[in-house]
Amino acid sequence: MNKNIVIVGSGLTGLRAATLLTAQGITCKVLEARDRVGGRVLSTSVPIKPDLGKFDLGPSWFWPQYESSISELVKELNVGTFVQYTQGAMLFERFPNEAPERHVLPENSNATSMRFKEGVKSLIDALADTLPPGIVELNTKVMSIQQEQAGAVTVEAEEADGKRKIYLADAVILALPPRIVARHIHFSPSLPPDLLFDLINKPTWMAGQAKAVAVYDRPFWRDAGLSGFVSSRIGPLQEIHDASPDTGTGALFGFFGIPAKMRHELGKDNLLKLVKDQFVRLFGPAAENTKAILYKDWAEDSETAVEEDLEPLRDFPKYGTPPKAGIWEKKIIFAGTETSSQFGGHLEGALQSAEQAVFELVNWNNS
Ligand SMILES: Cc1cc2nc3c(=O)[nH]c(=O)nc-3n(C[C@H](O)[C@H](O)[C@H](O)COP(=O)(O)OP(=O)(O)OC[C@H]3O[C@@H](n4cnc5c(N)ncnc54)[C@H](O)[C@@H]3O)c2cc1C
Repeated sequence: MNKNIVIVGSGLTGLRAATLLTAQGITCKVLEARDRVGGRVLSTSVPIKPDLGKFDLGPSWFWPQYESSISELVKELNVGTFVQYTQGAMLFERFPNEAPERHVLPENSNATSMRFKEGVKSLIDALADTLPPGIVELNTKVMSIQQEQAGAVTVEAEEADGKRKIYLADAVILALPPRIVARHIHFSPSLPPDLLFDLINKPTWMAGQAKAVAVYDRPFWRDAGLSGFVSSRIGPLQEIHDASPDTGTGALFGFFGIPAKMRHELGKDNLLKLVKDQFVRLFGPAAENTKAILYKDWAEDSETAVEEDLEPLRDFPKYGTPPKAGIWEKKIIFAGTETSSQFGGHLEGALQSAEQAVFELVNWNNS
């Protein structure tokens, strides 16, 4: 197949689509707005102390019992993983000014979740390393996609210095959150109204969330028979887990119960003070001695979140393939985790959406 495919976005979806196309000898370019690959996957180390290990500020887990694409990819790329630590009791913070309740959960009450030794970014890096050089263009933000009368498609992108660049494409894989497509990319001619409505109404998974990771010398809570898992009605973190890497360093991470707008008003310093107070309240004075507290608010990241994502989600969103694209049929394909009906929101959904997009694209051209 002698076609030019442009992939918008170098998250797990975009990179996987690129490897699948490349493996079939199909030429593609991946255009990425950020100065890094990975999208919502972000693994970082403590500045000036990289030996402490890698900490995930985006996704942490996959579930091999249910998720076949990611399990196979991890094996194929030989990426190091380990089982999430869950031994011991969990804590439940029900009322302010009362000691947290301690509960021992029944064994095997949850499916085994796996973590990556070097953070989830190690999967992204291993995948990106399989691509020939020059396929991914960073700092290249797609602004508009245009279809000429003869059917030719041009993709216009803005580089970091504000310069515009044009790419010619036979087809475009949109490997980014549907809401970002609807709010940030101009289509000429326009996308059908029912399609646009669907895109706006597909919340980007975790876009309104923030994560804090407290790093310690060692996982001291395990000595007290605690797993590090906490459910809290007090906050600011509503769900906490052990995030220790397998280096011997300790770490706890939590998701916030405070909505995005309130987090913004409180400011990072105040929030992190409240986070530390909560860890001390839960795990005792040893929790005071943090090596660092890492923080990432995804709601403030314009490549992930739009205005609509600032409202907290009430239910798990309904994900799946968007409606027909009208005049854009066989010119654009929607991919990205939010387009996966079975695993929407998860890394597995990103991979399955990439597999589906490439399958469709190859079949258009065979039909
Ligand atoms: C805090 C958090 C915790 C999570 N926890 C888990 C977990 O434990 N397990 C799990 O399975 N999943 C989890 N997820 C979800 C998981 O991260 C996503 O399912 C997955 O990373 C989505 O990949 P994607 O490629 O579809 O989208 P993205 O990663 O969002 O990639 C889209 C890419 O498009 C780029 N882009 C945006 N606009 C433009 C533009 N105009 N031009 C060019 N490029 C553009 C972005 O910069 C980005 O690189 C979590 C997510 C978050 C944020």
